[in-house]
Amino acid sequence: MTIATAPDIREIVRQVIAELRSAAPASAGITTPGVAASPAGSGSFAGRHGIFDSIDDAVTASQEAFEQLERLGMEGRRKAINHIRRISIDDAEELGRMEFVETKIGRLEHKIEKLKVLGERSPGVEFMRSEVFSGDHGLAVIEHAPFGVIGAITPVTHSLPTITGNAVSMIAAGNTVVVNPHPSGKKVAAEGVRRFNAAIHRDIGIDNLVSLIAEPTLDTANALFNHRGVKLICVTGGPAVARAALQASKRAIVAGPGNPPVVVDETADLDRAARAIIYGAAYDNNLLCIAEKQVFVVASVFDRMMAAMERAGALRLNATQVDTLTRKAIVMSGEGVHRHPVPCKDLLGQDASLLAMAAGASGRDGLELVFGETDNDNPFVPTEQMMPFLPFVRCRDVDEAIRLAHESEHGFRHTAIIHSNSVRNMTKMGRLLDTTLFVKNGASVAGLGLGGEGYISFSIATPTGEGVTTPLTFTRQRRCTLVDDLCILGSPDTINH
Ligand code: NAD
Repeated sequence: MTIATAPDIREIVRQVIAELRSAAPASAGITTPGVAASPAGSGSFAGRHGIFDSIDDAVTASQEAFEQLERLGMEGRRKAINHIRRISIDDAEELGRMEFVETKIGRLEHKIEKLKVLGERSPGVEFMRSEVFSGDHGLAVIEHAPFGVIGAITPVTHSLPTITGNAVSMIAAGNTVVVNPHPSGKKVAAEGVRRFNAAIHRDIGIDNLVSLIAEPTLDTANALFNHRGVKLICVTGGPAVARAALQASKRAIVAGPGNPPVVVDETADLDRAARAIIYGAAYDNNLLCIAEKQVFVVASVFDRMMAAMERAGALRLNATQVDTLTRKAIVMSGEGVHRHPVPCKDLLGQDASLLAMAAGASGRDGLELVFGETDNDNPFVPTEQMMPFLPFVRCRDVDEAIRLAHESEHGFRHTAIIHSNSVRNMTKMGRLLDTTLFVKNGASVAGLGLGGEGYISFSIATPTGEGVTTPLTFTRQRRCTLVDDLCILGSPDTINH
C-alpha cells in the first residue's frame, strides 16, 4: 500500500469551501478562512469545520458552538463525541499514515493504534456525575459545569491523538475547544478536526466544537493563552510550554514533560521485566511521555537482566557503540546556566535499527530497542531522549537504584516504574519519587489502562496535579442548595408547616 502524503493546508481549506458551496444555502456567503471574518450576513462561522487563521475568529466560533451545545444537553454531547470516536477508529489507518508522513517520527503501526485506542477509550459522558449532600437542612447538589471555550496546545509526538482525547473529554463536559497544534503536526491535526466537525455539523447542526489554528506559531499560542474568551487552558508539551502556561493569567491544566525511570531489583522476574521494558520503551519509538527512559538495576542481577533484555529481542550495544551513539544522539542546548542536554532532532523518534547503525552496530528487521550499560553521568540518563535506546545503570543496591531514579526524574512527578516482588521496595520508591503514575511489574502504558486497570488520556496533568485527565478535569463545581426540603428521610412530623 502506498503512503498517502498529508494534504497541504490550502488543499484542506479548498475541500472545506467546496463542501460548503455544495451543501450550504446560497445566501451563506462562504469565505476563505483568514481572508474574511465570517460568512456574510449569517453572523456565524458555521461551515468552517473548525479551520481558522485568526485566534479571534476561532474563539468567537467556539463560543457560538458552546452556546449551541448547551441547548442540546447531554445527548448532544454524546452524539458529537460518537462522531469523533467513529472517525478516529474508522479513519485511523489513513490519518495515522498522514501523521507519520508529516511528523516523520515514531512508528506507523502505533500512529494508527493510538488513534483507534483514543477513539475507543477516551473518557466521555459516562464520567460525568454529581454529588449530593442530604441531611437535616435539606439538599445540596454539586454539579460539574463546563468552563466554556478551552484553549489547548498539543505536542508533535501525538498531534491528532491528543486532539481526539482532549476533544472527547472536553466536549463530554460541555465545553468547546480551540487548538493551537504543534507546527510540525498541523496538517494532520487540521484534517482530523475538519472531519470531526463536518460529521458533527451534518448530524446535530453544530459546527466548530473543535477549532484549530491552521498556521500555529508561538504568537498564536500566546494569543490563545491571553484571549479573554478563553476560560481555561490545557497544555500538553515539554518544559517551555509548561512554564509558559503556568505563568498565564488564567487557570491552566498542564500536562508537562517526564523522564520516567525504571528500577529493577533482585526480587524481580527478569524475563517479564525485560518484555515489559521493551514494550513500553519501544512503543512509537519512545515518544510517549510515560515511556521508560532509563533503567537502574541492582548489581546482583545486572548481568542477568542484560541477558534477559537480549533474550526478549533488544540489541545490546558495547561501550564504544554507546559512546558513539551518545555523541550523535544527545546535543547541548541553551546558554549559560540554562545549558542542558537535549535529543538531537535527526534521531528523535527514529527506528531502533537506525540508532544501531548510528552507533556503529548492525540493525535488523523488526528490531524494536537498543540498550547498553552506561554510567549514571551519561547524558542519556537525565535527558528525555524520545528514541528507542535505553541506558542501563548498575547500582549497588535497591536504595541506590531508587535514589538515582529519583534524581533522573528531575521532580517532574510524572511516571516511574519498578520491577520487583518486594512490596517494601515498591513502597520506598513510590514514596520517594511521588509521581503521578507509578507502575509495578508492567510496561509504562499499563499506567494508562493499556494492560493495566484504569482509563486513558494523552494529557496527564503533572505540575498542576489533575492527573490522567477526564471530563471532570474540565469542569467547574457549582452547588445547588435547597433549604429544609427534599431530604425525604425521617419522620413526617419533623417537617415545619
Ligand atoms: P514541545 O514542548 O516542543 O511542544 C508542545 C507544544 O507547545 C507545541 O504545540 C509547541 O508549538 C508549543 N510550544 C512550545 N514552546 C512554547 C512556548 N514557549 N509558548 C507557547 N507554546 C509553546 O513538545 P513536543 O516535542 O511537541 O512534545 C514532547 C513533550 O511533551 C515531551 O516533553 C513530553 O514529555 C511532553 N508530553 C507530555 C504529556 C503529558 O501528558 N504530560 C503528553 C505528551 C507529551
